[in-house]
Amino acid sequence: MAKSYDVLLRGGVVVSASGMWKADVGILGEKIISVEPGLKSEDAGRLIDASGKYILPGVIDVHTHPVYEDDMGGLSLTAAYGGTTTLVHFAYAKPGTKLLDTAKKFIDEGLQKSYLDFGIHGALFDPAGQIEEIPKTFELGVTSFKMFMTYAKLRWMTNDYYLTAAMDLIAQCGGLAMVHAESGLVTDYLEDRSLKKGEDQKKVFLKTRPDILEAEAIFRAATIAAVTECPLYIVHLSTAKGLEVVRRGRAEGQTLYVETCPQYLTMTDDVLQRLGPPAKIGPPLRTEPDRLTLWKGIQEGSIDVVASDHAPKAKKKDDPFFEAPYGAPGAETMLTVTYDEGVNTGRIGPCKIAQVLSENPAKIFGLYPEKGAIRKGADADLVLFDPNQAITLQAANLHSGAGYTPFEGRTCLGKLVLTMQRGRIVVEDGVLKQKPGAAKFLPTKISKTTL
Ligand SMILES: [Zn+2]
Repeated sequence: MAKSYDVLLRGGVVVSASGMWKADVGILGEKIISVEPGLKSEDAGRLIDASGKYILPGVIDVHTHPVYEDDMGGLSLTAAYGGTTTLVHFAYAKPGTKLLDTAKKFIDEGLQKSYLDFGIHGALFDPAGQIEEIPKTFELGVTSFKMFMTYAKLRWMTNDYYLTAAMDLIAQCGGLAMVHAESGLVTDYLEDRSLKKGEDQKKVFLKTRPDILEAEAIFRAATIAAVTECPLYIVHLSTAKGLEVVRRGRAEGQTLYVETCPQYLTMTDDVLQRLGPPAKIGPPLRTEPDRLTLWKGIQEGSIDVVASDHAPKAKKKDDPFFEAPYGAPGAETMLTVTYDEGVNTGRIGPCKIAQVLSENPAKIFGLYPEKGAIRKGADADLVLFDPNQAITLQAANLHSGAGYTPFEGRTCLGKLVLTMQRGRIVVEDGVLKQKPGAAKFLPTKISKTTL
């Protein structure tokens, strides 16, 4: 007789955005085929005791950079150890390179090296030469495109003319524009002025990138998006002032999505002052009132997504601060620290974790309900999470090539037991169970409606 289930998770609490209930989860092949209490276990291929644990949809991390200390293999590995089952990476098309070729290259690398299913966002560094490739890239299943409104000195910035042109074309294709919203020329001037004065760049890091410049850039991007009727996604929102602008755009009926990151929900500028380069990220770690307002945004539903912005750069505490590059690892610690800072403090419940880390990103990028849901017919992408076990985060026990974590020494209540993708256990009790090569490239499809 054929088995009813290849794997049966018994006695756990299934968590979704809309509720939690005690149920068993039966998996056959790559799919969840039953979610209900009291499933018969005699003929299951493997029975897993989930009692006292949460069964969450696998984390869908839609903001990752597989080009620094972790490639698409290493990034998917460190992410899987943190409970992620799907990644959407930024394929950076640097000046002089083609957008379409870059997207294809990332897809090929992912199919070879990734442990996890993945999608791709295009990222334009040279819009004048690259926007014409948006429609062709779109046909590959790459439907979201990021531009920088900052890093003018690095020559990464897109000016308003090309921001408008890109959004116009993205809107015509049915895609989604994404922006890093900070007024780049203004921050560059403030930084230059401060350098001339000989100020300590670590001390003035926040002052040369004030919150109002994030708000200004969000307002400008949202205005251009309104004019071109282009859906817009703000990556890594970091300020209260920025959130205010998002709320206003929403109230006017714009399709405006917004993401923040665990680092902005758990740390402030004092961590930068203490750690130096390893905590140098863009936008910067902000103030306590900003941090608390971002939590409010999650509670009230005005922030849709929490994603990692995993960008591990090689740098150390004592490196010269000004020269140190922006970015830090974060994929593996994301679920743990967001849960700890959100649920264990009573700010949110586990349902909100499922919503912002999995269900909402799946919906925005058209992956739902195959991804982002524990329900019959969905991919068996899930996480078993023990809310009663504590762990202490240490770079030595993490799997990024970064070699450091800004959360070094932090003890969190809540531990990942198992990560499963399409019925295959990827990581269990800290042990890797898979080889790369089974990952699927997931074409994205942008939702026309707000969440
Ligand atoms: Zn980023």
